[in-house]
Amino acid sequence: MDDASTPKQAWRPATTIARGGLKPSEFHGFVNPPVVHASTVLFPDVETTRTRKQRYTYGRSGTPTTDALEEVVCALEGAERTVLAPTGLAACTIPLAAVTKTGDRILVVDNIYHPTRTFCDGFMQRFGVTTVYFDPLDLDGYRGLLAEGAAAVFLEAPGSLTFEMPDIPLLTKLAKDAGAAVLMDNTWATPLFFRPLDHGVDLSIQAATKYFGGHSDLLLGTVAGNGEMIAKVRQCWDEWGQHVGPDDVYMTLRGIRTLDVRLERHQKNAEIVAEWLAGDSRVHRVLYPALLDAPGHDIWKRDFKGATGLFGITFKGPSEADVARFVDGLKLFGIGYSWGGFESLVTLPPVNKARSATRWPEDEHVVRLNIGLEDPADLIEDLDQALGGMAPR
Ligand SMILES: *Cc1c(COP(=O)(O)O)cnc(C)c1O
Repeated sequence: MDDASTPKQAWRPATTIARGGLKPSEFHGFVNPPVVHASTVLFPDVETTRTRKQRYTYGRSGTPTTDALEEVVCALEGAERTVLAPTGLAACTIPLAAVTKTGDRILVVDNIYHPTRTFCDGFMQRFGVTTVYFDPLDLDGYRGLLAEGAAAVFLEAPGSLTFEMPDIPLLTKLAKDAGAAVLMDNTWATPLFFRPLDHGVDLSIQAATKYFGGHSDLLLGTVAGNGEMIAKVRQCWDEWGQHVGPDDVYMTLRGIRTLDVRLERHQKNAEIVAEWLAGDSRVHRVLYPALLDAPGHDIWKRDFKGATGLFGITFKGPSEADVARFVDGLKLFGIGYSWGGFESLVTLPPVNKARSATRWPEDEHVVRLNIGLEDPADLIEDLDQALGGMAPR
């Protein structure tokens, strides 16, 4: 076996996923890297502490465990460097702080993951960075905001909760032309289905908690990028000491080995369930970009290689209490935050509390489904019985 220490550029994603970051000859032939629990690293002499001509210098600055995961993510993202953060949220907040300074103005998509918005309105605001939220489907409005100046633009696709599909290449190009740094939370698609850096985005963010980990048992985030941009993120991450413990890094690496296999099944299950729901008259709309008549389908088809297992359904007519009864009536779907794990989940999110530039129709209730790896026939049976338990209007 070739001791492929760095994933070859020529490798296809499945090979990177299976083999990236492995260096068995460095670890007595063991296939996997060790889980290195480390603070102190010893130096042979004072001279080496000065020159730092030694591969590892301190637990915070990297270990063979973190190197292995960083290599796999770099290869999947097409990036020079990856920074590992303790949560997906930290992978959103560290780069935002890294590329801005007091007095700056940033543009953030209105349908952003809600805790990212909380960071912008809290920490960023207190340190003198103003956030303007924009509707990613309103290109004229966006052009106007860019013309007023922006240090950075933060994108996410599809939109959190409501799954609008923005034109990422165009939004990115307009932002770059205006001199703004472009950050994108790409957790929904993962770099298997969309590679932000290939479309001009500067920093590609993943909540590895979701599909990279895949088993609802860890929190981690990754930020991938090139050159000066990722160097800034790395510096801010280091200044804040936002390093990750080795067990979670190892668990993410273990999860990532089956990323492509799991995503294939998540996608297949989600398509089957979404199509069934689209054909059910009790459901108003299915917000899944992979469906032929879903909003944003054309852009999704042009730019994305696939769709994952998270989508929304909406109800118009039933009251919120009726919809809550449907959610409570589900037996296989657990009510809970996060997603991307093997098990199906459901939430009934208050959409309008998470946006400010646009309003969502008050009488259209969104239920978010995370389709897991169960047999879709069982999921459909469960949805069917719970829909049946909704009170008539
Ligand atoms: C879950 C999530 C995050 C945050 O990840 P955590 O690990 O839970 O902090 C960020 N962005 C998106 C789109 C998410 O779904």
